[in-house]
Amino acid sequence: MATLGDRLDFIVGKKAAKALDETFGILTVDDLLRHYPRKYSEGMSVRDEGEALDLEEGEHVTFVDTITKHVLRDMKPQPGKRQRKYLVVTLGKRRPEVTATFFNAEWIAPNLIVGTKVMLSGEVKWFRQTMQLSHPAYLVLDHPEGLGLKGSKELRSIAEAAEADGGFDISVFERDFFPIYPASSKLQSWDIYACVRQVLAVLDPVPDPLPESIVRQRGLMSEDAALRAVHLAENAQERDRAIERLRYDEAAGLQWALMQRRHSELAEAGPSAPLGHDGLVTGLRHRLPFELTGGQREVLDVISDELAGPRPMNRMLQGEVGSGKTVVALLAMLQVVDAGHQCALLAPTEVLAEQHARSMREVLGPLAMAGEIGGADEATRVALLTGSMTAAQKRAARDEIASGAAGIVIGTHALLQDVVEFRRLGMVVVDEQHRFGVEQRDQLRAKAPEGTTPHLLVMTATPIPRTVALTVYGDLETSTLRELPRGRQPITTNVIFANEKPKWLDRAWARIHEEVASGRQAYVVTARIDEDDKAGQDQSGRKATSVVELFGRLKAGQLAGLRLGLMHGRLPSDEKDAVMAAFRAGEIDVLVCTTVIEVGVDVPNATVMVVYDADWFGISQLHQLRGRIGRGQHPSLCLLVTSLSEGSKAATRLKAVASTLDGFELADLDLLERREGDVLGRNQSGRAFGLRLLSLIEHRDIIEEARAFCMNAYEMIPDDPGMAQLAAWFTGERIVYMEKS
Ligand code: ADP
Ligand code: MG
Repeated sequence: MATLGDRLDFIVGKKAAKALDETFGILTVDDLLRHYPRKYSEGMSVRDEGEALDLEEGEHVTFVDTITKHVLRDMKPQPGKRQRKYLVVTLGKRRPEVTATFFNAEWIAPNLIVGTKVMLSGEVKWFRQTMQLSHPAYLVLDHPEGLGLKGSKELRSIAEAAEADGGFDISVFERDFFPIYPASSKLQSWDIYACVRQVLAVLDPVPDPLPESIVRQRGLMSEDAALRAVHLAENAQERDRAIERLRYDEAAGLQWALMQRRHSELAEAGPSAPLGHDGLVTGLRHRLPFELTGGQREVLDVISDELAGPRPMNRMLQGEVGSGKTVVALLAMLQVVDAGHQCALLAPTEVLAEQHARSMREVLGPLAMAGEIGGADEATRVALLTGSMTAAQKRAARDEIASGAAGIVIGTHALLQDVVEFRRLGMVVVDEQHRFGVEQRDQLRAKAPEGTTPHLLVMTATPIPRTVALTVYGDLETSTLRELPRGRQPITTNVIFANEKPKWLDRAWARIHEEVASGRQAYVVTARIDEDDKAGQDQSGRKATSVVELFGRLKAGQLAGLRLGLMHGRLPSDEKDAVMAAFRAGEIDVLVCTTVIEVGVDVPNATVMVVYDADWFGISQLHQLRGRIGRGQHPSLCLLVTSLSEGSKAATRLKAVASTLDGFELADLDLLERREGDVLGRNQSGRAFGLRLLSLIEHRDIIEEARAFCMNAYEMIPDDPGMAQLAAWFTGERIVYMEKS
């Protein structure tokens, strides 16, 4: 008898076990039983003559019928080799005709003579009016000459396993449907099915990992029944209940893992940082050139309380581009600095890290000038650390960080390196979270003194669909800034179909001239850098216009006479800085660029954005790009240019972006458009992430219910072994939410 934890080799044999391990990393009974069918084949029953076969190419199908035609022919001769033959058999009298072809068929031919009742199972191919199965698995059910058990290995082994007293039990094959497993050419679906049957035949009853109360309350099938039925159910209703049960296991396991994570961090001591009265926070609030919005104040109150408490904060701050997250983060950091700790702000790009450092130093003024003439008494320092700084600059920054002189440390991935040591790290802020994984924020948090976990604030301008917030980010509390600071101007967005309405494109360039004439600036964005850039090209060879080419073209043509700047990710970083500085200073009228400008860049004087070949970008990315304009006092215009037609699918997406400025609405649309693998990140296979039956797109209700259940249950039974077992699928996984790039 076997249990879930047992290794497979003793049950299915060394050879099969090795194949399962090598192909799928399946080692234990549990691994195998959780290798759920990817779908179920219909069409097992004998179909009536004349019945239309609406099966599609590539679909897996199984027939049981009698052979009506048998043709053995010579294969193309190979010099020096024995003549091989191939066999074509026709099944029944069905129309359209079903045939099966077998190669090197000398051995098989006598088994499949006219009048043999046979089961054939394979993938559908259509050729003219004929359905062809190419080298399908077969099993002889009744042979005119009474041969014994004949058939291909996979099916024979299933039949043999069910063999009783000499005759085999054909009832194992009399089913409405069969499971079709994720398989490979070396390890086919039938092989896996045979192993699953062997395992289930000896499996002891499986204990239920979920508390009995929830199983009863939700009317779920038991774990034991579900693990069997998902593979062997005889009817669709039973099968669907099994899937429902196992899907709930996933939802609950994922939420439990998040509870564990949350509580393990909360259980540690956080650097308690009560709000002081005459420190940097007060200093900055006096200096700010604007009033905080109501939303900013509310969010800050919540954050401020959490920072003062004994536990580390774990919070995500989401808000539209331009909603003023940065000043919220800065005030939060200052509260922590006032209490004697350091803060680290992790930014996804150098441009953004530099911009943060510059704008924070600027807004802090004397408050950031500790040790300098004119520095305030309570002043601290803002240190910047990025990969492209010189060795000497880096050393100087690291010294300020290690000595504690820098209260605020801003940087890119460079901050994660071991050589970077903090004196008293008390808070980590991660900007534009979707670029970073959980492991990176943990890496930075680990730089705090032994025994304390720094507060964490994650900022994202990409509104996150609710299901993603509950799963990928389920270990964080969320705050949202919905209101934009006063004085903001609306952004109008239009789609330009350049091939169908070339005049509109001319008009777009004219608009840029007009805006520049009245002192404004513009962006022209495209998806590709140059001929060598892999981004902005697809397999079919379709390419987005390159920024280098477009820059040359506009400079000599439609935008001649304006001051153009070129910006992309492959420029040396001092050049990038120079271009950004010139644009910010108004010395460049039009920045022709790639998405390096996507995140967080703040030039309020820019009022027009032309996104060239906009169809290359995803919904959220376009929304994000658009947030670069409309940041000042002037109304702004975003033009999405595409050479695709108005009826295309991409056009629908562009029109959706044009139709609303609501980032949450667009985020949900975006999620619908993408494969979930993209949302969940690097590990594209469901296996690696642990989600097999649960979909973030379709199962929002289940996710929410499982979350509610786990929140309650965790209070009462935090050590529940069954829940821990479900959660174990998800611990240690890399969960990353990435932009479509
Ligand atoms: P986000 O990071 O959320 O995209 P920022 O924090 O960069 O937005 O804010 C965008 C701009 O709005 C900045 O120039 C910032 O100084 C300004 N700003 C922030 N809060 C306010 C406010 N309450 N009133 C006016 N302007 C504000
Ligand atoms: Mg920002």
